[in-house]
Order: sequence, then structure tokens, then C-alpha cells
Amino acid sequence: SEASPIDVAAPKARRTRQARIAWGDRVVTVGGDAPVRVQSMTNTDTVDAIGTAIQVKELAQAGSEFVRITVNTPEAAQAVPYIREQLDRMGESVPLVGDFHYNGHRLLTEFPACAEALSKYRINPGNVGKGDKKDKQFGQMIEAAIRWNKAVRIGVNWGSLDQELLAQLMDANSRRARPWEARQVMYEALITSAIESAKQAEAIGLDGNQIILSCKVSGVQDLISVYRELARRCDYALHLGLTEAGMGTKGTVASATALSILLQEGIGDTIRVSLTPQPGEARTQEVVVASEILQSLGLRVFVPSVTACPGCGRTTSTTFQELAKQIDDYLRAQMPVWRARYPGVEGMKVAVMGCIVNGPGESKHADIGISLPGTGEAPAAPVFIDGEKAMTLRGERIAQEFHEIVENYVER
Ligand code: SF4
Repeated sequence: SEASPIDVAAPKARRTRQARIAWGDRVVTVGGDAPVRVQSMTNTDTVDAIGTAIQVKELAQAGSEFVRITVNTPEAAQAVPYIREQLDRMGESVPLVGDFHYNGHRLLTEFPACAEALSKYRINPGNVGKGDKKDKQFGQMIEAAIRWNKAVRIGVNWGSLDQELLAQLMDANSRRARPWEARQVMYEALITSAIESAKQAEAIGLDGNQIILSCKVSGVQDLISVYRELARRCDYALHLGLTEAGMGTKGTVASATALSILLQEGIGDTIRVSLTPQPGEARTQEVVVASEILQSLGLRVFVPSVTACPGCGRTTSTTFQELAKQIDDYLRAQMPVWRARYPGVEGMKVAVMGCIVNGPGESKHADIGISLPGTGEAPAAPVFIDGEKAMTLRGERIAQEFHEIVENYVER
């Protein structure tokens, strides 16, 4: 009998409510049928308005679709409209998100220009106030969002979880016939805090579509457990991210692992990769990693992809690695200009391969590819365009000539 075809893998679709984060003419929708959004956060002192505006612009140009800034003091709140003004002057309309903890109710009430200049407020229910003051202070922030027509992220974090709620749940757990594990109680506290706060915001009058939820933890398996359950219990748009993911390779791999599993299940409407930059590493690296996660999963396409083999004992030189890097850097650098000029160019695939074993095959799968000669092969590099062998390059100028062929291909 005939064999069944193998299923083609694809991320599942999960429809959430849709929030609108806007500034000027730019409206970034999150959730619903919107693509999964990339966001990031500055690490400047917000009081340094010029330095913050410059970093926001860098993050936006790297692909961050909205950028969060810390608003922690009256001076920072006063700087926010000025940062907005600087960005508008630079022609950068990326929406700004204000990150509030402890005193957000006061800052949003006492500095209306700050409340207006931001496009979204992040509220942490774990530190919005204690005891009797909690509801009042939370209410003040939600009323500011209603008054200024802003979106809100209710962002719960296990490092600043509502201790009163956690104590209540631990108490209830101790009376269970079969008590849960401590981490299961913590999951419950995170999710309850987020969903109850969202319901409270809706009861005050905030449009439920304008609410985005997050429940961040720093363990990969914990994040997967929490978000699966959060997604099962509500249809608010979800902000996904592994908090305090760490530095360099560890942070990148942990974030990619956790986020990819959830995104494949259709969970997550906007992502942030929280990387601690290595000394000398660009702040924009977290945006690059977030974009690469989405592009690798086939959820978004941001830049042309360059396929390169790792090289092995058949490789005669590092030429193909240098060429692959050169082409990759060139394509990325051109994107801000090309995006408007050549619609669809971001979907282009380029292959730069080191020998005949996989070189021609991989090059044929790409829009344009080159197979450089390996050990024992004739000193010739066939170039494939749209799946067909188009020419063979020889001599010292192979790299430069291939570069020119790629440029011409894009223009054509
Ligand atoms: Fe090695 Fe050739 Fe495979 Fe590249 S394509 S890894 S050079 S065998």
C-alpha cells in the first residue's frame, strides 16, 4: 500500500486578542492575526534623554518594533516627553513602552506628559503596592491607560512575585490532601497574579484587547510549563521571554530553546530576548537573536538568509567562510535601503559552500549559490542562479565576482 506523506512541520496558529501600540502614523498590533513582534529594552539612564533616544533608535533600526525604557523617578518621567521629541525629530516613530515598578501610579498621575508620550505601560502586579494600597495604586495606573488610550502589559516576574498571593496559595496548598510541589504553587501564583490583574483592569474599564500578559521565569522548563497553562486559561495577547537569560552563548541558547518550543505551539505574540551584553557586544544583539529565532521557525522573514557549510577536511581554505560572512554582512547592511526599493528581497536565499559534496545541491536550493572548490577538485567555482548552473568562476577574484553577481541579482 502507498505510504502516507510525512507531515510538513509548521508553527500552530493560536488566535489571541489584538492590542494596538501606536505613535504618530505607526501602529504596531500585537496578537490576533499580527505577526509575532520583536521588542527590546534600553539600558541607559532614562534621565539621559539624548543617550536614551540614540539607543532607542539603534534598537529600532536593528528591528525592534517597540522599545521599553525604564521610568523609575520623577526625573526619568520628565525626560520621557523629551526622548519622544528627540526621536520624532530624528524621524523615528518607534513606539515607546514605559517600565514601571513601585511608583508607577504616582509618575503616571503627576507627569501627564510622560503618560501621553508613552505608547504602552508595563505594570508589575508584584510591586504595585501592598495591602489596602494595592488596588488603589493599580487602579490609578489603569485609569491613566484608559485616559490616554494606551496598551498595558501586566508583567509578572518570579523575582518580584506578589508575596501576599504566594503566601495565600502556599497556605491553601498545605491543606490539600496531596500537596503540590513548591514550583507548581509558584506557577499557579504567577498565572493567577497575571490573569486576576487583567480581570481587575477590565473591571475598571480598560479594553481587554489592550492588555498583554507575561509571566517570566528564568528556567527553560519552568517557562514552558507556565506559558502553556497561561495560554490555556486566557486569550490575552502574550509577551514571551526568558527573564535573566544570561550572557552570550548560554543566554542565546536558553532563550532560543524555550521560545522556539512555545512559538511552535502557537504561544507568544511578542518576544523579548533578555541578554546581558558581553563587554564590547552591541546592545542590538538581543534584537538580532529575537529576529533570528522567528526567522528560523519560518514565522517572520527579516533579512535574506545565507546558508554556509561549516567546512571540514575537504576545505582548501577559509575563503568560503570569509565570503559567507562578507555576503551576510553586506545583505544585512543593505536591508534598510532595500526593504523599500526591492519588496520581497528579505526572502532571498544565498548559499556559499566549501566543496562539491553538498555545494551544488545546496546552491540549487538557494536563489543564488556558489560551490567553491575543495581539496583535489579543479580550481573552479560553479554559480547557480534560480536552481540552474549559470556560470563558473575561476582565479583570484572569485569572491569579488560572486559579490557583484549577488548585487546584480538583487537589482534584477
Ligand atoms: Fe565539507 Fe564540502 Fe560538506 Fe562543506 S560541503 S562541510 S567542505 S564536505
